Amino acid sequence: MYPASFEYQAPASIDEALTILERYGDEAKVLAGGQSLLPLMKLRFASPRALVDLNRIEGLGELFEDNGGLMIGALVRHAQCERAELLRGRYGVLGDAAPQISDPIVRNWGTVAGSLAHADPQGDWGSALMAAGAELQARGPDGTRTIPLDELFQGPFTTSLEPTEIAVWVRVPDPGPNAGGTYLKLERKVGDFATVGVAVQLSFDNGKVGRAGIALTGVGPCNLRATAAEEALAGAELDDDAIRSAADLAAKGADPRSDVRGSADYKRNIVRVFTERGLRKAAEAAGRREEP
Ligand SMILES: Cc1cc2nc3c(=O)[nH]c(=O)nc-3n(C[C@H](O)[C@H](O)[C@H](O)COP(=O)(O)OP(=O)(O)OC[C@H]3O[C@@H](n4cnc5c(N)ncnc54)[C@H](O)[C@@H]3O)c2cc1C
Repeated sequence: MYPASFEYQAPASIDEALTILERYGDEAKVLAGGQSLLPLMKLRFASPRALVDLNRIEGLGELFEDNGGLMIGALVRHAQCERAELLRGRYGVLGDAAPQISDPIVRNWGTVAGSLAHADPQGDWGSALMAAGAELQARGPDGTRTIPLDELFQGPFTTSLEPTEIAVWVRVPDPGPNAGGTYLKLERKVGDFATVGVAVQLSFDNGKVGRAGIALTGVGPCNLRATAAEEALAGAELDDDAIRSAADLAAKGADPRSDVRGSADYKRNIVRVFTERGLRKAAEAAGRREEP
């Protein structure tokens, strides 16, 4: 099916895009990679009066590290993350997630920021970035505001972004020198959305866990932070007991529904198994970089 007709706007700057968005209010939609929005428009689940295409705005495709961490511009594509050396090592939770998103066509177009704005509970970036402690920098008519991902996701396909706001940067804090992470995803076949995904990011301090980030995909109304597991690990020795009890806490914190991908019990058990496996893998990744 073809989408309903719409006006097409291609601003050359964020300021211009914001002016256009203000003019249309909630009748306009921002277009980034189009990999979620265009299918919805073709199915007539979305019929915006105007699309505001960000793709001609310069500088939004930048991915770089600065003193405060990693900056991911609004037009950074999944494929760019898949290839980025920067997203291995300490930011490995992101580098692991990128190639597991759909297929090369979707990865060539789809953007990290667009995935966050779309807020699909089965979206992989939401969990990977939540585990990494990321926040979104959005610009709107009243200036710039920073939104932690826990506050961004409000429910399925719902965020705290206003229709007149643009997500301009995703900022990931520096995890420190002794850090590692991973993203584990169970899918029915290559390219499928997650049955369950678990993102783990660990930073070590004097041999103990400093910060633990654990977030879950596909087992709740939005990407979920496994807060109880994270809190239990902070400051702890990462031994077998700590790993097993954190995995149990993560499974308890999940809120899965039975569907064609599996029963709620099955998904909860996968959360437990993947959290345990993810913690061991993240610790190993962090440890490897402590070697000369
Ligand atoms: C066949 C297929 C399989 C897929 N499989 C997966 C998968 O396995 N895992 C996964 O995580 N995702 C998957 N996706 C989704 C894909 O990752 C999308 O790229 C992503 O969800 C949206 O990014 P986008 O840049 O394409 O956004 P768009 O489609 O352009 O926009 C999506 C929504 O976000 C808004 N938006 C976009 N950018 C901004 C911004 N900068 N500021 C404010 N609002 C913005 C738009 O207005 C729209 O509401 C799949 C998609 C397809 C078509």
